[in-house]
Amino acid sequence: MREQSRFVPEKALTQLQALQTRAEHETPATRAELLNQLSIAHLRTGQLDAAIADAEQLISFGRSQRDDAMLAKGLLAKSYALFEKAEAGAAYQLAFEAEKLAAKSSDLLLRSQTQITAGQAYAEQGDFPNALAKMQLGLDTARQATSDPVMLFGALNAIVQLYTQMKEYDKAESALQELLALAEQLHLPGRMAMAKTTEYGLAIDMEQYKRAIQAQQTALDLMRKLGSERMIGLALGNLADAYLKLHDYPRAAQYASESLRSTQKTGDRGMESTARGNLAQAYLGMGRIVEGKRQYEQALARYEQENNKPQLQAALREYGEALERVGDTAGAISAYHRERTISDQLFERRRQQAMLELQEKYETEKKQRQIELLSRDNQLKGTELDNKRLQQRVWWLLALVTALGALIVGMLYRRVRHANAQLEVKNLELKAQSVRDPLTALYNRRHFQDFMRALPHTETQPPREADVVGALFLLDVDHFKHINDSYGHAAGDAVLKMLAEHLRVALRETDMIVRWGGEEFLAYLPAVARQGIDDVARRILRSIAAQTVEYQGHSITVQVSVGYAPFPLAPDGSPLPWERVVNLVDMALYLAKAHGRHRAYGLRGFANFEHTSLEAIEQDLERAWRAGFVDLSVVLGDAPDAIPPSPNELNNVVHIKHAQKNSHAT
Ligand code: GH3
Ligand code: MG
Ligand code: MG
Repeated sequence: MREQSRFVPEKALTQLQALQTRAEHETPATRAELLNQLSIAHLRTGQLDAAIADAEQLISFGRSQRDDAMLAKGLLAKSYALFEKAEAGAAYQLAFEAEKLAAKSSDLLLRSQTQITAGQAYAEQGDFPNALAKMQLGLDTARQATSDPVMLFGALNAIVQLYTQMKEYDKAESALQELLALAEQLHLPGRMAMAKTTEYGLAIDMEQYKRAIQAQQTALDLMRKLGSERMIGLALGNLADAYLKLHDYPRAAQYASESLRSTQKTGDRGMESTARGNLAQAYLGMGRIVEGKRQYEQALARYEQENNKPQLQAALREYGEALERVGDTAGAISAYHRERTISDQLFERRRQQAMLELQEKYETEKKQRQIELLSRDNQLKGTELDNKRLQQRVWWLLALVTALGALIVGMLYRRVRHANAQLEVKNLELKAQSVRDPLTALYNRRHFQDFMRALPHTETQPPREADVVGALFLLDVDHFKHINDSYGHAAGDAVLKMLAEHLRVALRETDMIVRWGGEEFLAYLPAVARQGIDDVARRILRSIAAQTVEYQGHSITVQVSVGYAPFPLAPDGSPLPWERVVNLVDMALYLAKAHGRHRAYGLRGFANFEHTSLEAIEQDLERAWRAGFVDLSVVLGDAPDAIPPSPNELNNVVHIKHAQKNSHAT
């Protein structure tokens, strides 16, 4: 089929189309090869669009099968069709792409074919070093693919043509000999005809026209046997060309006419124009100018119609040269100008294409850049948005923290206020505790000391013979130890409490009552009638003795002894310090105890103070009293109101040294 497709594509096409109707059940590889052959058949019959459609079908089939070899075949088929359509640039690109894909394939035939085609593409562009490298690679690959020597034939054929183009005639010649020998071996008439046609090309280039004609004649005969109308048309055209070179115009015209007829049969437009060109040149050579020009114009019109500018340009150049040869200078110049215009247009088209390509590249890059910019912009905006969200969150958090803080501060404030209030109460309590005795709730000794220290100095100034004075009373419970011993310590406590209560009742609100020691009490009366001090002492003695303390079924009676003095006291005109007054009172109390208890001794005044000293009085109060230095009041608890006895009337007089009284003084 491949051979038929090459040389008699019409027949091949009919058969391939018949095969295609039942291709659905074939393997993917078979279906792919069928598409490939269809494309080639369409190409050979000049149906280029159909050839492209087949190739594209093969490409997408290869893609769906994920088969690179199939894909490469499709690309190659499309490349051939595009080249025929004079879209060389695109054709080359596909050829290179196909070669890259096939390089990974294990299909040696495909690899060789793509390498050769890539080489041809380089040659078309005038890049002979690369062309040669690729083709030699293709040739090596083809030599390895021993299963199909036709590939080797194709490779050799291409290499002969390349060497011819490169004017490396020796190398072309030796490759040609191998090609011809291979064609002989293959027993394929079509291939031999191809080899002979290649020989024709080489011979023409080497200006061996007779050899060229001979080779082409052999090929023509083989084509005729094969019935390959297209190849016949080509061979006839080549023969016409060779005779033109030999200036044998009648023969040239004959072959050209035959070629024209053949191409009209096959409908090969390109070949038809070539045939007309040849015919026109032959006519011109024979002096049949009008006929010649008409044929040329027809050929040119066809190229113009096809918009095949490269062919049009080549034809116009030939046309001009032919006219010049026959002396039609005006015609030659006109052809020359037309050729120039086409050349300019071609140049312009190429330039524009290059520009377009550049522009496209630029646009693509620009778009890419824009996309990158946009995405960067988006990123930036995204980050900005994220930042804003974050900021908002931070603000919310801050607000929350502030609110919580305010709440906590409020709570703490309330607690502090509450604590302060409690503290104030506690402080008051503490203060009370620090100034009061816990058992009796009377002032304690320390408070009294503070009070006395804070007393204004004027108040310690003795008012001269004033009727109202201050007074200090010191009490001590008689035989208190006995109470404790008989009824227990708690009973003693109860007695002390009761005593405090009676003192409060017996004295005034403004009087200061102090728990001076264990069972000793001190009372400071800031204002009392001078004549009433003894009465106060009496009241204290009697009110206490009158009460009994009921404790656990026992009735306890309590008696006290008292020492007292007015306050302030000034034996020599200047007032004594309060401590000394208390000391003297204590001495009086002790005297009361010593003289029988349940009585009160009060200092009333001093006499002949210049004959004694305070120290001496303090040393021994009784002696001072007896000596008349001191005047004492004596109030008896038991006795009815009577004149107090003088010192010498008293019984049980006891001398007590001050040293034995230390505990009372301090
Ligand atoms: P007198 O004063 O009449 O010479 O005899 P007394 O028994 O009172 O003698 P003294 O002053 O030596 O004894 C006082 C006793 O009072 C000694 C102590 O145990 C007792 N006492 C002191 N303070 C308290 C107290 O707060 N409660 C009780 N229950 N007893 C106390
Ligand atoms: Mg005592
Ligand atoms: Mg006592």
